[in-house]
Amino acid sequence: MIADSPLVKAFWEHGRLDECPVIDMHGHMGPWPAIYFPRPEPEQMLVSMDQAGVRRLVFSSHEALFSAATGNDYTARVVRRWPDRFSGLMVINGNYMDIVERDMARFDAMRDAFIGLKFLAAYHNVALDDPRYDKVWAFAAERKLLVTCHTWGHGNMNGPAQVRAVAERFPEVRLSMAHSCYGMWEEAAQLARDFPHVYCDLTAVFECRGALELFCERGISRRMLFGTDLPWFSPLQGIGSVLSADITDDDRRNILHRNAESLLAPLLAAGR
Ligand SMILES: [Zn+2]
Repeated sequence: MIADSPLVKAFWEHGRLDECPVIDMHGHMGPWPAIYFPRPEPEQMLVSMDQAGVRRLVFSSHEALFSAATGNDYTARVVRRWPDRFSGLMVINGNYMDIVERDMARFDAMRDAFIGLKFLAAYHNVALDDPRYDKVWAFAAERKLLVTCHTWGHGNMNGPAQVRAVAERFPEVRLSMAHSCYGMWEEAAQLARDFPHVYCDLTAVFECRGALELFCERGISRRMLFGTDLPWFSPLQGIGSVLSADITDDDRRNILHRNAESLLAPLLAAGR
């Protein structure tokens, strides 16, 4: 059933709503050698965002994910050009701890560009709870940063068990589970219920019918974050999934903008 609430009707009619903005908490940027993206550059991504009513995108550049030495600088350059539209996450790659040390040393001088950190544990082959990352988690806790972690169900790098291990130790960190431990929805919801500082990032979850309803039924509507992996996937698909799910308009607003607004307010203030 396609929902027919007043909010949904207004979206279907106008395509986007100024009074219900969308904040995308999970994106990337720049070309990716193995795939063709029609709009990977920041100017082009702004077109995609404007078409869908996305006010702000929190992202880590593709270059930062796989070129530790240079990629975070790319992210900072883009945010500093469009500070009202983009916020950066500094990528941490435990295979290059000398570079991580360098980046932590300059983080405080780059708060205008970075609101937090990004772990890509399974790709970097360093588990979220690896001892190498202890000092990074402590660093993030001290500053109450957002830490977005790629998470996926099963495996031993970034599943529910690793999230729980770090969430227990670092309650000051705002820990966003990118992809919500994909496929292990009950475990992801339980983590959000057990820890008030843990969030379910819905990137890729939109393709699974029933997951949004399950999260809302478990009572974590205030802990769900809209995300798309832009430029990999269209914000229109994500927004359509939220509008079509069997949830309330309050839930939809929580997902599309309210939760992100509360989360971002102190982080953006720290960068001014
Ligand atoms: Zn991603």
